[in-house]
Amino acid sequence: MSSSLEPQRSVPLAACTSLQLGGPAQHFAEVQSAESLCVLLDWAQRRGLPVTLLGGGSNVVIADAGLPGLVLRMALREETCHVEGEHVHVTAGAGVPWDELVARTVARGWAGLECLSGIPGSTGATPIQNVGAYGQEVADTLAAVQVYDRHDGSVRQLARAECELSYRSSRFKTRDLGRFIVLAASFTLRAGGAPHLGYADVARRFSAGAQPSLPAVREAVLATRREKSMLLDPEDENGRSCGSFFLNPVLGAAQLDQLRARAQSPPTYPQADGRHKLPAAWLIERAGFHKGQRWGAVGISTRHSLALVAHPGATSRQLLEAAHRVRDGVAAALGVLLEPEPVFLGFGSAQHGLPSL
Ligand SMILES: Cc1cc2nc3c(=O)[nH]c(=O)nc-3n(C[C@H](O)[C@H](O)[C@H](O)COP(=O)(O)OP(=O)(O)OC[C@H]3O[C@@H](n4cnc5c(N)ncnc54)[C@H](O)[C@@H]3O)c2cc1C
Repeated sequence: MSSSLEPQRSVPLAACTSLQLGGPAQHFAEVQSAESLCVLLDWAQRRGLPVTLLGGGSNVVIADAGLPGLVLRMALREETCHVEGEHVHVTAGAGVPWDELVARTVARGWAGLECLSGIPGSTGATPIQNVGAYGQEVADTLAAVQVYDRHDGSVRQLARAECELSYRSSRFKTRDLGRFIVLAASFTLRAGGAPHLGYADVARRFSAGAQPSLPAVREAVLATRREKSMLLDPEDENGRSCGSFFLNPVLGAAQLDQLRARAQSPPTYPQADGRHKLPAAWLIERAGFHKGQRWGAVGISTRHSLALVAHPGATSRQLLEAAHRVRDGVAAALGVLLEPEPVFLGFGSAQHGLPSL
């Protein structure tokens, strides 16, 4: 292995995450190309070391003890686009910062990603949890994903349907967890297309009947996010988070009846399968928690009750304790079990996604 590819030893990972929490990686390397990925995977395999992937670190909680084995940060940056009539095919390497890609497509008048403005992290991670916000999700425009298959070492394309995208999930997060490494993602956008304006929080920024431009909608999304501390901003007192900490639960009719017996008029959003999605933030507040609530160096964001925030001196253990407190409180008050959105790395066994204490 050339010395430029040789992994570094004992690299602190906190600075690689938006929470700024977690211990060191035993070994760490940046992946610049598919070829170097193969070399690095082979390096780890020959030593019997586990491999963990990292993008921008904005949806992970890393244990205080750090991570054994080799941590690979995806840094593939190649980007291509190809216009075919009103369709634009954009392919971006896994390491392209997502919001930079969105900004470029908006500036060129290509519709399809504008409501996903301001989401931190890398392009390669967006299919993992089918990133979404303000009425748009990656599933709306993703055409295909180029992956490295760790089962047989092949590099191939998975069409959108093969990714099994659903609400904040995909086959990469479920039945094929750890199998595929995303090398690049391709999107089909609309040249000159109208922006999506289906979400009240964003639409209220424009007068009725207005037909805002793509850049105007991007700015409105960024302004809405800023109000909720949902942009990565080191100056923001809520700046150290991983975004929404819990998924919005989707309840069947019987569960919803049980909830209504405990809490009047919960807001519900009917789903295509007949079930109902509920805002986890509403449940958290109804269970008695409030914005700005603190437990030592961790707490709930002052601007969004769905975000848990780390303050100076916080540890991952304390964040996990806060997550249990909130989840247990909601379950006890309302009978709904919240599941976490971020991925926990380096922790022990988990129950419904949340590692045990
Ligand atoms: C302030 C803030 C706001 C946010 N708002 C939103 C939002 O509105 N909507 C939303 O959906 N999310 C949101 N998030 C969550 C997060 O930004 C997204 O999930 C993002 O896509 C994560 O990208 P990342 O590169 O940081 O992934 P990481 O956190 O580095 O990794 C997340 C998971 O993906 C895996 N992974 C990363 N890259 C690859 C790859 N190339 N191949 C295979 N696996 C990979 C990792 O192993 C890990 O399991 C927010 C986070 C923050 C901090």
